[in-house]
Amino acid sequence: MATKATQAAKAAAGKAVQAAQTLTSATASARTSARTRAAGGAGTSGPTDYDAIVVGGGHNGLVAAAYLARSGARTLVLEARGKTGGAATTEAPWADAPDFKVTRLSYVMSLLPPTIIKDLQLEKHGYKIFPMGPYYQAFPEGGSIKLYADDAKRNHDEVSRWSKKDADAMPRWDAWLAGLADVLGPLLLTVPPNLGSRKPRDLEQTLKLAWRHRGLDVHTIADVTRLMTMSIADLLDDWFESPQVKGALAVNGVIGTWAGPYEPGTAYVMAHHSIGDVGDGHLGNWGFQEGGMGAVADAIASAARENGAEIRTGAKVGQILLKDGRAAGVILENGQQLTAKVIVSSLHPRTAFLDQVGKQNLPDDFVTDIEHWKTRSGVVKINLALSELPDFTADPGTNLQEHHTGSVEMAPTMPYIERAFTEARDGIPATRPFSDGVIPTAFDKTLVPEGYHIMSLFTQWVPADWNEAPHTAELQAYADRMIDCYNEVAPNFKSSIIHTDIVGPYEMEHDYGLIGGNIFHGELSLEQLFHMRPAPGFADYRTPVPGLYYASSATHAGGGVCGIPGMQAARAALADRRADLRSRRRR
Ligand SMILES: Cc1cc2nc3c(=O)[nH]c(=O)nc-3n(C[C@H](O)[C@H](O)[C@H](O)COP(=O)(O)OP(=O)(O)OC[C@H]3O[C@@H](n4cnc5c(N)ncnc54)[C@H](O)[C@@H]3O)c2cc1C
Repeated sequence: MATKATQAAKAAAGKAVQAAQTLTSATASARTSARTRAAGGAGTSGPTDYDAIVVGGGHNGLVAAAYLARSGARTLVLEARGKTGGAATTEAPWADAPDFKVTRLSYVMSLLPPTIIKDLQLEKHGYKIFPMGPYYQAFPEGGSIKLYADDAKRNHDEVSRWSKKDADAMPRWDAWLAGLADVLGPLLLTVPPNLGSRKPRDLEQTLKLAWRHRGLDVHTIADVTRLMTMSIADLLDDWFESPQVKGALAVNGVIGTWAGPYEPGTAYVMAHHSIGDVGDGHLGNWGFQEGGMGAVADAIASAARENGAEIRTGAKVGQILLKDGRAAGVILENGQQLTAKVIVSSLHPRTAFLDQVGKQNLPDDFVTDIEHWKTRSGVVKINLALSELPDFTADPGTNLQEHHTGSVEMAPTMPYIERAFTEARDGIPATRPFSDGVIPTAFDKTLVPEGYHIMSLFTQWVPADWNEAPHTAELQAYADRMIDCYNEVAPNFKSSIIHTDIVGPYEMEHDYGLIGGNIFHGELSLEQLFHMRPAPGFADYRTPVPGLYYASSATHAGGGVCGIPGMQAARAALADRRADLRSRRRR
């Protein structure tokens, strides 16, 4: 029964991808009036009918809107919060220090493809990245390690201090990863085929993908299989011997993940964070956006507005309106009804589908898939204002030095990271949390008054159910322990802190819509990747509801501030419009 429902919905979607069919070309005057309304405000005045409505003004929603508006569609973005950006946000969290701004949730850029930067002319709109310095870990027992993204000679010198064997293995490891990135990188921009579907379009997509990979040899396929199935710990054990080097390389395997380094699948998470090229040009290394991550969202919003999109903030969507089984508009929480033939949602899948479309309007098996969607992560973001830079015992001085310019880690070994996870899985916030720290003000002088710094600590883990209650006092104690860990290696650290901002899973869920506190709208676990993201049969940015497209980080290539889901959802809507126009002309 459920399967039939899915087939019926998919058949309808195939036949009636008419969602975009009535997207019309915006006239110059429509564009101008849209721009003048772009200042925001959820007022009930203004037009109520659009070609396309985008639900959620996070960076993916904004990318989708920019592409739709660029194609000529009269496009409206509806954002619940008082500002756009979602998890890409710059805020001033301290009322008594309004000059201090923090990039409150996400903190570094890497995966935004050159295609999007170019298509939307983001540099013209303020997109400006400072490439990060080295990975840096100072060890509680003394000494430190730095790893450089692009300097094999210095890496060899650094790693040799811990293991000569590991130093010699490092270039082979880098080459191995680069080879895998050549295979996996382009997949990020590939629309996943609906594997198993016999529909001509799906079969064609599956065959195309197989053909593209016809040159892969047995060894490459074996390496990809290892990467997809192994734990980062087992993988690193095959390559390296020194606990310090393995600790440094394990961090990317657990970022944002409800899994310790010994869990299968974490090797892939490492690769996801290490791929530097998504197939349309070389990406820079990780870097800091000037003005914080909110400035990335602002640049995309500015591009969307320039193309004619209207953006309303303080406009919370309560329901997606259906008419004759098709998406037809939205109802805001204030009761206002807005209509469009194309709706693009960029919200968490539980909100978008179960709450806003409604289970009764969706196929049973799709509902089950979304109900089973895994969305934990136990992440706590700690943002600090500092009166001076950390003075590391291993590398002394509060003057700005190279080791302040990259990631300033607290993840000394894999057992250290693993302990933090197993404690949280047992229901205890980590005694010694691990942290991916950065000091963006090493480059970016726009965030603080002169002489001060911001340090942003992305930390893990607290128990997965801390999204259900604020846990304010326990979060403060957890943050204090995290600060103590840094203080052990940089004794001026604690006394240099002048303001502290702690964002836990409850706040992430309730203030930012990140259900379960997961930073990617859903875990990057193997069963939730590629053709399974967000549900089998619906990984092509379309949904069981004709006219409703899906652009959140819960689709393929998300999460992260990569914009790919937004671009692909807009492309799907526009492709359906073209197909529909062609079929109308033939009639
Ligand atoms: C702590 C943290 C650290 C991270 N660090 C990084 C990093 O360094 N680099 C990186 O690349 N990625 C990072 N990420 C992940 C990345 O930020 C997200 O994957 C990405 O920003 C999600 O973008 P999105 O547009 O898909 O969704 P969101 O940013 O979640 O946007 C969805 C939007 O919808 C709005 N909304 C919710 N409900 C409604 C409603 N009912 N009506 C209207 N609007 C609504 C929300 O307010 C929000 O603005 C991090 C995330 C977190 C939380």
